[in-house]
Amino acid sequence: MTQTYDVVIVGSGHGGAQTAIALRQRGFAGSIALVGEEPDLPYERPPLSKEYLAGDKPFERIMIRPAQFWADRAVTMLPERRIIAVDVAAHTIVDADGRAIGYGALVWAAGGHARRLSCTGFDLRGVHGIRTRADVDRLVAEIPAARSVAVVGGGYIGLEAAAALAKRGLPVVVFEAQSRLLARVAGVALSAFYAAEHRAHGVEIRTDAVVDCLEGANGTVTGVRLGSGEIVPADIVIVGIGIVPSVAPLLAAGADGSNGVLVDPNCRTTLPDIYAIGDCALHANGFADDAVIRLESVQNAVDMANSAAAAIVGTPQPYAAVPWFWSNQYDLKLQTVGLSIGHDEEIVRGDPASRSFSILYRRDGRVVALDCVNATRDYVQGRALVVAGSTAAAAMLADSSRPLKSVATEESAMVGE
Ligand SMILES: Cc1cc2nc3c(=O)[nH]c(=O)nc-3n(C[C@H](O)[C@H](O)[C@H](O)COP(=O)(O)OP(=O)(O)OC[C@H]3O[C@@H](n4cnc5c(N)ncnc54)[C@H](O)[C@@H]3O)c2cc1C
Repeated sequence: MTQTYDVVIVGSGHGGAQTAIALRQRGFAGSIALVGEEPDLPYERPPLSKEYLAGDKPFERIMIRPAQFWADRAVTMLPERRIIAVDVAAHTIVDADGRAIGYGALVWAAGGHARRLSCTGFDLRGVHGIRTRADVDRLVAEIPAARSVAVVGGGYIGLEAAAALAKRGLPVVVFEAQSRLLARVAGVALSAFYAAEHRAHGVEIRTDAVVDCLEGANGTVTGVRLGSGEIVPADIVIVGIGIVPSVAPLLAAGADGSNGVLVDPNCRTTLPDIYAIGDCALHANGFADDAVIRLESVQNAVDMANSAAAAIVGTPQPYAAVPWFWSNQYDLKLQTVGLSIGHDEEIVRGDPASRSFSILYRRDGRVVALDCVNATRDYVQGRALVVAGSTAAAAMLADSSRPLKSVATEESAMVGE
């Protein structure tokens, strides 16, 4: 017989776990099932490329909640079940073993899978993505025998992994196809800063480096071949080139979307009683001029989970949160607020050489984002400038002797005059 739950959540990551938490916090008394393809209870993904990879935190310390928490709240955990189909009319989902689960409301929180290289050698032993605990456990098991590491992709995950493995004493080379690191998510000043930091820690950074294929012997990777023909030896290759959103079953069921599933501000998809949240949800974001985008961050997953839960219990709370993000590399703590996409100006505040500074991004004269390196005060105080789309003078923003709080206060006083 098909078991039915009032709410079924697919994906037991950040968004899925938070949906169950938020439903109970809002007094939802119906049955909840959290279905996930991984074997573990929900855990935090950010430490996978940071403390967990570096060996500084055991798995127990990255779990979102202990097992008892879920039991106390009567959240039924259904691990190791990959959902492959959604029957919208019957209100059921089906897993890879053909087992059906009925739902009253369905929350799709399936995130994505690490994108693999499309060239030959992508599936050799020693080639790793970093998306799940299992990915990192496999990678860590290979470290004792490894002599060198290649990281393909100079985004946050690749760079964090490079820092963690350099810290473990391994020689690391990062290959980035674009002309600078972090090109998709940050401006030139931050790229230059992180390139210099990694080099100072002995990591080789190679930009404009297009990987042609991976070389191997006896099924195991031995190196990276570049477009130039050069072969760089490596016995561990980490591929950090983004994700493929896990949305095929929803799209096949008729949901609007493509590189993700389209949702409205209450996280409703175009299918009845089906919501989508987190990394897989395409939404119009007010901090990106309402461009329809996906965000890959804990903040986005958690805030969308709260919106979906609110809609399910009948007290809608549309998603409008300011995006924020962080990245830890070496002793550098980067905190980001807003979205720098499409910025036309960067204002550096403080001296990058001091390893504590911020960068404000403006678009059409308005502050749209802030990157703060070891500068938590700027991050906390500058948030209001991003939310308000501040038009404060560049000289005022750049003056690191003036707290950003005073810029925000002065501006709001001027608006009030
Ligand atoms: C290594 C790494 C470092 C990161 N660092 C940061 C950071 O510093 N700061 C930050 O804000 N964000 C960071 N992120 C991003 C952040 O972890 C994600 O944005 C967040 O986990 C998204 O939550 P989610 O619920 O949408 O998806 P996920 O947390 O990915 O959860 C989705 C779950 O659904 C499962 N699933 C997928 N398909 C199916 C299916 N068909 N059936 C059943 N289950 C399925 C997946 O296996 C997974 O368990 C990092 C991510 C990674 C991988």
